[in-house]
Amino acid sequence: MELEEQAALTSGADFWHTRAVGDVPAVTVTDGPHGVRKQITGEGVDLFASEPATCFPPAVALGSTWDPELARRVGEALAAECLAMDVAVLLGPGINLKRTPLGGRNFEYLSEDPVLTAALATEWVAGLQSRGVGASLKHFAVNSQETDRMRVSADVDERTLREVYLRAFQRVIQHARPWTVMCAYNRINGVYASQHHWLLTTVLRDEWGYDGVLVSDWGAVVDRVEAVRAGLDLTMPGPDDAGDRALAAAVRAGTLPAAALATAAGRVEALVRRAVDAARPGATYDADAHHALAREVAGRGIVLLKNADSLLPLAVDEPVIAVLGEQARTPRYQGGGSSLINPTRLDDALSSITALARGAVHFAPGYDDVEAAVALARDASVAVVFAGSQEETEGSDRADLDLPAAHLALIERVAAVNPRTVVVLSNGAVVRTSPWDAKVGALVEGWLLGQAGGAAIADVLFGLVNPSGRLAETVPLRLADHPSHLDFPGEQGHVRYGEGVHVGYRGFDARDQDVAYPFGFGLSYTTFAYSDLSVSTVDDGLEVRVAVTNTGARDGREVVQVYTALPSSRVRRAPRELKAFASVPVAAGTSTPVVLRVPFADLAYWDVELGRFVVEAGDYDVFAGSSSRDLPLSASVTVAGDDERRPLTAESTLGEWFADPRGAAALTEAFAALAGAGGMAAAATDPAMFTMMANMPLSRVAAFIGDAFGPDTLAGLLKAAN
Ligand code: BGC
Repeated sequence: MELEEQAALTSGADFWHTRAVGDVPAVTVTDGPHGVRKQITGEGVDLFASEPATCFPPAVALGSTWDPELARRVGEALAAECLAMDVAVLLGPGINLKRTPLGGRNFEYLSEDPVLTAALATEWVAGLQSRGVGASLKHFAVNSQETDRMRVSADVDERTLREVYLRAFQRVIQHARPWTVMCAYNRINGVYASQHHWLLTTVLRDEWGYDGVLVSDWGAVVDRVEAVRAGLDLTMPGPDDAGDRALAAAVRAGTLPAAALATAAGRVEALVRRAVDAARPGATYDADAHHALAREVAGRGIVLLKNADSLLPLAVDEPVIAVLGEQARTPRYQGGGSSLINPTRLDDALSSITALARGAVHFAPGYDDVEAAVALARDASVAVVFAGSQEETEGSDRADLDLPAAHLALIERVAAVNPRTVVVLSNGAVVRTSPWDAKVGALVEGWLLGQAGGAAIADVLFGLVNPSGRLAETVPLRLADHPSHLDFPGEQGHVRYGEGVHVGYRGFDARDQDVAYPFGFGLSYTTFAYSDLSVSTVDDGLEVRVAVTNTGARDGREVVQVYTALPSSRVRRAPRELKAFASVPVAAGTSTPVVLRVPFADLAYWDVELGRFVVEAGDYDVFAGSSSRDLPLSASVTVAGDDERRPLTAESTLGEWFADPRGAAALTEAFAALAGAGGMAAAATDPAMFTMMANMPLSRVAAFIGDAFGPDTLAGLLKAAN
């Protein structure tokens, strides 16, 4: 292939197509992630002009299902729609962590936890790609805010990066091998993600073995030559003729290795050929079945936060239900931006409640006519208030966590006249629920649930679906409590990830702070009890066994959660880190054994001195239960670890020398021999003095002692100790 042809392959033909070059045809790529947003031909980039497609629940709701199997089925269904629309690559899933509850795209992301995120995204990608459609794992990496998103530098230390922000990417890439990975807009520690050689090549390719296509986010490339040099393959959108020319010229001038461009072009060509082989011209999909799946997933993503006196589920013969709030009739079911789907149909909760109820259903839009709503609530046997955020959108972070004032007023006024008040929330990221939640009987977190969300809400309200969703993000009492609070959204071009590894619940737990509803929390219409926890080590990890009993009268589904801690760790770790979970159906009155695996690799921390993940030896605490703050069972297990002895040096401190058995023996002997040579050696063996000297590097101690502790003594010590 000529240089010009190679270069042309590495930028798009337009917004949604790769470039046809020679005998390599063009293929279509499109958003993503919770539906197929295929632009209607001739409509440019108009977000609102896309072909109808199923609007599945956005990631905020999918994340709350804690069910990788459901994610896989969504992936498979999305693939069917892609094939029917001749789409080769769907631009998702989005797996950035919800670092702050204000993140404008939190609705597109799964969780504040990397293990949960990775488990769901792995199956989503596997499901999609099992049907011959490629995924685009995005946005690589550390793209957890919209403020200044195309320039801001996310300044994050390597341990945090490796353990938290890159971890989900690593797992999905190694377990599901997405056809493409999309680089982020932002800079990371000063370098644009699109030209970050360490990120794109050292980590992604060399360490993780990724061999698919690295595509830019739309408009993320600042310098084509630098991007290709760093390992980027495909720049979108296109065409970028000037950039293509610059690439060919750089190769000719010898400033860009020819192999870099050839490799990028080769990867794009391989992607296109793979997609062409998988295409199914004339394919169709079953829109009814997909709507039913969207309803099932939505029902599973709803989280029941409060249910005083078992107010829910409602009886179908409830005499008078007052449904209040425009969002019951005009649902908020997805967020704004590139993920906006033109749904095949749209369920609203009001119609679905009316269809199921045998008694009277009265409705008032509520926010602007609060008196009419209060009047209906006063005469109703139960009041269901719909409230939520106004909008979440790509491109803009939220300003606060509060519900709109009119929604708050509606809740307060209705709750004051009807003690049987249920609140149903619609929001793409957590909203503040305190202190008003104390005044209502039941609180249903309905997120953004996709096109079948209205029906799913009715299913949960009437108990056709027993809620099993769990929070994938902490609901704080106040914004100011959040670990990210003082370091968001940054200033002067930088956002400092000051909370380090203590993202989300890890930070709340480490500071022992109260929250409104903890990570992993969610109620059911039944109750569960835990028993018989046992933990053992098997070949490549821990095997955790626990029994879950449904102690109530209804069949239900429990999300069993396993967290670990290592109190003796040499690095600061959160008191509890999620390591495994399982969503299990449990029939009323029965007990189910659950077996979970925690790979040793997941116990590791990133050691900045060794430059690798280290599984520390020690006694790990293993907790099991139904949320990060409801862990009734715990056990301890001894792990051998893969830690290695760090050689002692002249710069190791006295404390470090004495903590090491060989070092201590050698040094004790050396000091004994020097005892006559001055106070310093003697002092080092005196307990009170040692406390003062423990942080002194050995080289400095030697300098104090002088000639008696010269280079030969030091060399001998190092030899004896190491
Ligand atoms: C978004 C991506 C999206 C792309 C294409 C960008 O603005 O960040 O998530 O896939 O546009 O629409």
